[in-house]
Amino acid sequence: MSDCIFCKIAAKEIPSTLVYEDDQCVAFKDLEPQAPVHVLVIPKKHVESVLALQEDDKALAAHILVDVIPKLAKELGVAEKGFRVVANTGEEGGQSVKHLHFHLLGGRSMQWPPG
Ligand code: 5GP
Ligand code: ZN
Repeated sequence: MSDCIFCKIAAKEIPSTLVYEDDQCVAFKDLEPQAPVHVLVIPKKHVESVLALQEDDKALAAHILVDVIPKLAKELGVAEKGFRVVANTGEEGGQSVKHLHFHLLGGRSMQWPPG
């Protein structure tokens, strides 16, 4: 999608600190980190949110959750102590960028409930 900031990051038209890339997704450091480890994992394909995922996207969603996020959590050193995966969705969910992204946050104790 031409005016989507995360599509531009995935296409490397906007710089970011990439921590992972494969044919289906990229992961990069959040611009305003909320924890010592804070990366965003996104599909290269534009999907607006969790709600917009279609039947055809099941393999992509599974790839991100089953393959990529656990691997990154281990590589970034947060797997052992624990971490949080967040997909803010829609207005009340606090989604500010309308391209599906999974926050991977770790390196400190998380509070519950979230704000
Ligand atoms: P949301 O609020 O939609 O769940 O999360 C969007 C996240 O994207 C925020 O944590 C914000 O800091 C991050 N973000 C927004 N624009 C950019 C950008 O241009 N580069 C990077 N690396 N992160 C961004
Ligand atoms: Zn996009």
